[in-house]
Amino acid sequence: MNYESTRGGVDLVSAAETIIKGLAPDGGLYVPADKIEPIEIAKNMTEGYQNLAAYIFNLFLSDFSAAEIEDAVKAAYNSSNFDHPQITPLKNLSNKLAITELWHGPTYAFKDIALQILPHLLTKALKITGEQSEIVILTATSGDTGKSALEGFRDIPSTRIVVFFPQNGVSEIQKLQMVTQEGKNVNVTSVDGNFDDAQSGVKEIFNDREFVKQLASSGYLLSSANSINWGRLLPQIVYYFKAYQDMIRCKAVQIQEKVNFVVPTGNFGNILAGYYAFRLGLPINRLICASNSNNVLTRFIKSGLYNSNRKLNLTISPSMDILVSSNLERLLFELTEHDSNKINIWMAELKNRGTYSVDKETLNRLQKLFWGDFADDSETMATIASVYKKYNYLIDTHTAVGIKVWEKYMDITKDDSPAVILSTASPYKFAASVLKAIRGDKIEEGLSEQDKLNLLSSETATEVPVNLANLESKEIRHKQVISLSEMKKNLIDFLA
Ligand SMILES: *Cc1c(COP(=O)(O)O)cnc(C)c1O
Repeated sequence: MNYESTRGGVDLVSAAETIIKGLAPDGGLYVPADKIEPIEIAKNMTEGYQNLAAYIFNLFLSDFSAAEIEDAVKAAYNSSNFDHPQITPLKNLSNKLAITELWHGPTYAFKDIALQILPHLLTKALKITGEQSEIVILTATSGDTGKSALEGFRDIPSTRIVVFFPQNGVSEIQKLQMVTQEGKNVNVTSVDGNFDDAQSGVKEIFNDREFVKQLASSGYLLSSANSINWGRLLPQIVYYFKAYQDMIRCKAVQIQEKVNFVVPTGNFGNILAGYYAFRLGLPINRLICASNSNNVLTRFIKSGLYNSNRKLNLTISPSMDILVSSNLERLLFELTEHDSNKINIWMAELKNRGTYSVDKETLNRLQKLFWGDFADDSETMATIASVYKKYNYLIDTHTAVGIKVWEKYMDITKDDSPAVILSTASPYKFAASVLKAIRGDKIEEGLSEQDKLNLLSSETATEVPVNLANLESKEIRHKQVISLSEMKKNLIDFLA
């Protein structure tokens, strides 16, 4: 399998190269260039998460040996990294509603599924291509990606991981998770500004050609750990298959019976992995795209008009607070049968005017498989409460958006096919909102984050996840607060 850019401006690259590069040099995103052949589901009911992952990776990483893939899979998906033997266990709440819990990794958000294995794929890719440089992963984060990337890349040979987070833009738990990060190759710095400031600071570093050249001559190559990297999408295809297998095993569906997947969506990475699962032959009826009140995608799926010209709302599902969903570009490239001319036109319009419209045929193809709607904060809170009451099951704010949108979907379409909701974060990661949702407004003033975790635990007779339980007693290792203009110098100092 080779990879091509959605903008059509570069030569084909191997899987190893696409993982090292992350973004294509013409500004596009890498996608598989060869035809994706459906696999036979019944024949490939491989047992165990590791085996299933290896099977899917072998289809896409043709320049990796089977042994290299097996190594990476074993290093990532094991019981020292994940607190559940199934890695992504399925919970059936009713005979129509199942939840796949994607948050059993070290940082309790679904990003761990990809970021636990990406470092291993990357170091193998360096060996395969003969790349000698040390890779420097540069990340600006609004919360989940930063911690997940830190845990994935800590103490991985030939890599360094640098995270900038906005001083006032992350939750207290997320901040504590990052500033207590252990590892010899990690650097975490708080930036005096908001997330957009930190993000543009990082982009400036990437685009500073002179500086990038200088780094290269010192043996460093900058790369990215966000979902523009194919190496982050590929691992996410696996759990769609895993969930389907579990649905069959528990007799919620029969082989080849179609299911709906509901995906709380921000950058469109998670749901895009579902699209590739569909292309691989997984019996999916609908991919339901659930947004919060930043509902640009809802409008797009309903009308074909993408319009990002609006103010970003800060919601209680912050990991979905995004107006420009990068991975949509990959879907459009697939739906237009790899028409990079169309993609270039649409992406230029998006860049210049903040909006574009796709043609009728593309919209029809999109709507055959995708359906979109949104839930606002009050609907999200009410859903956490009602799911807890009805099923005695705790969900986080992002998962609640998914469930609410699934309810709307059934109301509107009357389609009650079995559905799998992708649960993207542990309720404890967003304990303050979850606690408030299930207790109403009866929350004492002046509680610390740790108090809220403990209260949620005693209130619901569930356990605080182990890496959050002792957060406040952990040593603070990263105390630096810098101004925006100091980001580059901070990076240089760390590498020196
Ligand atoms: C990142 C994230 C999302 C959004 O996923 P995308 O792949 O960006 O669409 C949803 N929920 C949580 C908890 C996340 O961390």
